[in-house]
Order: sequence, then structure tokens, then C-alpha cells
Amino acid sequence: SAEDIIQLACSIIMLPHLIKAEEGMTYKLSWIDDELKSLKDTGFYNSIRTLDSPQGAWLVVDGKKVLNFCSNNYLGLANHPRLVQAATEAMQKYGVGPGAVRSIAGTMSLHLQLEKRMAAFKKVEAAITFQSGFSANGATIPALVGKEDVIFSDALNHASIIDGSRLSGAKIIRFAHADPVDFEKQIQAAAGTYRRALMITDGVFSMDGDLAPLDKLVEIAERYDMMTMVDDAHGEGVVGEGGRGIVDHFHLHGRVDVEVGTFSKAFGVVGGVVAGNARIIEWLRQRGRPFLFSSAVTVPDTAACLAAVDLLEESTELVDRLWANARYFQAEMRRLGFDTGATQTPITPVMLGEVQLAREFSRRLFDEGLFAMALGFPTVPQGMARIRVMLSAAHSQSDLDQALGIFHKVGKDLGVLRG
Ligand SMILES: *Cc1c(COP(=O)(O)O)cnc(C)c1O
Repeated sequence: SAEDIIQLACSIIMLPHLIKAEEGMTYKLSWIDDELKSLKDTGFYNSIRTLDSPQGAWLVVDGKKVLNFCSNNYLGLANHPRLVQAATEAMQKYGVGPGAVRSIAGTMSLHLQLEKRMAAFKKVEAAITFQSGFSANGATIPALVGKEDVIFSDALNHASIIDGSRLSGAKIIRFAHADPVDFEKQIQAAAGTYRRALMITDGVFSMDGDLAPLDKLVEIAERYDMMTMVDDAHGEGVVGEGGRGIVDHFHLHGRVDVEVGTFSKAFGVVGGVVAGNARIIEWLRQRGRPFLFSSAVTVPDTAACLAAVDLLEESTELVDRLWANARYFQAEMRRLGFDTGATQTPITPVMLGEVQLAREFSRRLFDEGLFAMALGFPTVPQGMARIRVMLSAAHSQSDLDQALGIFHKVGKDLGVLRG
């Protein structure tokens, strides 16, 4: 194998670490080789495909033109001419990089404009932006709770919520997924054991496309005088009026303390945002560590995000098209005989069961010119492997029909569909 040849070549030129290895000592990084091999042997190794085109309904992936049903580019903004133009013009005026962390000399008027515009868009008191949704969680959670406190966290919350929660040092108490009754049970069981409490849930859960029962969770949290936070990464630009998010969807304005969002999904760019109570936003400018110790997103990112807010505020056309596409595609998939799970959003799981089948299905789709990811254990529970289809406003009617044709063919070929 190639590895053997390299090993041989190395031993001929007698690299010191390989001599040591021959003497029976292990090279200090060989544990990584072992770990990587074990990932490959057990099928958990991440093989990453390379794109050679902008994001859109079609992609060039590993040199092949394919229909794209993988991206979080819900509104087709990642390559929208208005965003590209705004980014280009801003670079002419402000250059590229922010030059320093926000609190030293890296806050540009564009960053502040974006924060103002996001607060208005979300109909909240204030907003603060971060480098990513991931770092927004890492900033917010440790700023709100510490060692003497508890976090009540939905069992399926995103990795960045889990990491932010661990970083805070607070006790993490998980409640059953999307289960207000269990949430309240957990609160009662923990009564008297903490100083402050924070309830955190994803708004839209990205594996199944289901919504958090935010109205019920907030109602319970209010009864126990607890802080509330929702991470609406997959809801921003998707749910609520004109894509204003899950708080808007449930008409909970003013009742959720913190809304975390991302500019990397429906907004088509990159960056994170925290919107909500003005006190909390002010506190994050003082205590959010990724805000204080890491530079902000660049000029073109910020300008492109502003153009995305403009588009969303001007018209609901893109959000409406996204939902029309999702409803059409999901209804047709069910009519073909596929199980699309419990989705309430444009995230469309196609339930297949075993991970081997899901992987084979994804490979066959790719051969037929459709790019959609297979998800299996441990990302989703054992026996609930699936293809996840991400709909977008960028898809045309003919894209959707072509995709349905490919799903039908592969479904029949692999015996998932009868007849
Ligand atoms: C994608 C996602 C994030 C991370 O957002 P980035 O801006 O890409 O870092 C955080 N939380 C949830 C729930 C997400 O789905």
C-alpha cells in the first residue's frame, strides 16, 4: 500500500522517529494513526467532498455537476448578486479585515449597523454579533451562568450549546427532547440546589426538522423565574413571519431572554448573533470572551449580512418560495412512499433505518447526480439512519422534479419503494 511505500522510503533515509519505532518505542503521535485507523475501520471516518462552484441549487462536487440538497443555504443568499455587490462595495470603502478585536479597535460602523438592523428585524431591544453561531453560544452561556448555577438543556441540543454549557461550569441537567413535562419534572427534582437557572433549547432541530415546543417551555420557565435562551440557527430566515425566527413563530416577543442565531445558514454568509434583552447584550459586550478576545467577522461578511437583512425586510418572497418548495417536495416524497419523519420545516429526513442502506442510498443518489447526506449513528439514534434533504428557495420546479425522479429510481432499485 501507499503507506508501506512511504514507511519504506522513510526508513531508507532513516528518519529518527522511525528508527525509534523499530527499536520498539512508539512514536509520540502514533496514537493518532491508531485512532484514525479505528475511525476508518468502524465507518466513522469523515470523508469530506470538495466544492468547486458557488453554493446554489447545483454544485460542482469533486469535479461532477450535481443537484444540491445538502446545504443550509435556505434562501439561496450565499451567491446572491445583492450580497456579492454589497460585499464588493464595502471592501472598496473599508478594506477587508477589521484589524483588531472589537473592544480594542476592531468595531467598525458596519458591525454596529448590523447589530441595530438585527435587533429591529427580530423585534427585540438589542443585538450583538459574533464570529459564528458556535462562538455566540460559547460567549453567551458562560456569561449568564457559573458554577453555582444550573442549565436545563434539551437532550438533542447542538454541540455548541453543549460546549458552551460545559465551559460555564454550571450543572447541566438534560430534559427529554421537546418534552415540557420532563422539563418541569427536572426543575422540581433540582429545587433548592442552585443559585440561577437557564433553560436552553435549539429552535429547530437539524436532524429531524422538528420545532422546540418553545411556548410551553417558556411558560414553565416563567413560572420558575428562570432565564430562557433559544438557539435558532436553523429557524432564522426560515420560520416566523418573513423568517424572523421561532420566537416570532410562537409570538413570544419579549418573553425569551436570549435568541442565538447564525448568519451562516439562511443568511448565506458567516457570523453569529445574539438578540434579546438589552441588559444581557450590554453584559455580553463586557463579558463575552469571544467578543473580547477574538476579532469580528470581516468587512465583506458584515456588508453581505446587511444586504441579507435588507432583502428579508423588503419582501417575504424568498421565505415563501422556500416553504412552497419544501411543502411540494415533502408531499411528493410521501406520495412516492417515503417516510419523511416528523419534520415541521424545510429540513426533510428520508428515513431508511440501517446506516449501511442510508450510505448506499446516498452513493447511488450521487451517481445519479444528486448530492444529499446520509446520517447515521451516533449523529442520529441507532436504526434511524436517513438521508437528509435540505430544501432551498434556490431550487426551481424542474430541480425538484428531477430530484423526485432520482429518489424514485434509487428507492425502487434499492427496494425501499415497492413496485
Ligand atoms: C449550525 C448551528 C450552529 C453553528 O453556527 P455557525 O454560525 O455555523 O457556527 C449553532 N447552533 C445550531 C443549533 C446550529 O444548527
